[in-house]
Amino acid sequence: GVAVSLRSVSKTYRLGDGSTLTAADGIDLDLGAGRFTAVVGPSGSGKSTLLHLIGAIDEPDSGTITVGEQEVTSLGRRALADYRSTIGFVFQQFHLIPALTLLDNVIAPLVGRRVAFDRHERARELLEAVGLGDRHASLPSQLSGGQQQRVAIARALVAGPGLLLADEPTGNLDSHTAGEILALLANLQRTHGTTVVMATHDPSVADRADRVVAIRDGRLDPAPA
Ligand code: ADP
Ligand code: ADP
Repeated sequence: GVAVSLRSVSKTYRLGDGSTLTAADGIDLDLGAGRFTAVVGPSGSGKSTLLHLIGAIDEPDSGTITVGEQEVTSLGRRALADYRSTIGFVFQQFHLIPALTLLDNVIAPLVGRRVAFDRHERARELLEAVGLGDRHASLPSQLSGGQQQRVAIARALVAGPGLLLADEPTGNLDSHTAGEILALLANLQRTHGTTVVMATHDPSVADRADRVVAIRDGRLDPAPA
């Protein structure tokens, strides 16, 4: 996994009515390589913004973000696209492509990219790793929500990311299924050393990570963990 470091990171959105909203307010944060960190806070506290900034889906107004060896905030367009392709994302909505088999969903992020491994073999291994090895030819509609999120996790891992960003990954799941998904994330993190950052509004979900960071109004709770 890769280490993640944020220094004085701020992001203010300009709203349609001319007002502004600071969703990240001077964030300083260090996440060790291979750790599983939960960012917990109420709806609107800035969790998604933080993940989007780390994943370079969104750009901060000020501050620096370093992921592994890369200072993300200084990358040009092309390097940014390359950087994004080295990160795994998992969302609350599973966002699988309905017309594609599970195998093809897992491979989808690699389309048009050169990779040094056999993509079908890798996708099968990943489906195996998330407990769906025998379902590679199924369609997403044939799966439960928890199974669909497992596929989304396999897809997020297909490029072998050092960092996995998960935004409310259990938000659409019942608590039993949520527990299974959290156990899967923790297991992948332990066995492969992937750095995992998970956003959740649910403290009981956050407790399953090895570190919990609280956010409110775009500010991190001062208490260091
Ligand atoms: P959370 O993930 O904790 O629910 P978000 O990061 O999504 O919080 O949002 C933090 C605040 O920033 C909210 O008030 C939200 O409405 C606002 N916000 C997020 N994205 C945008 C955007 N693209 N434009 C304007 N406001 C935004
Ligand atoms: P193994 O026990 O052989 O390491 P797993 O069943 O855990 O295998 O994983 C199968 C495949 O998925 C392997 O190719 C492994 O490299 C890959 N993989 C699983 N989890 C991750 C992860 N978190 N990050 C990157 N690759 C992963």
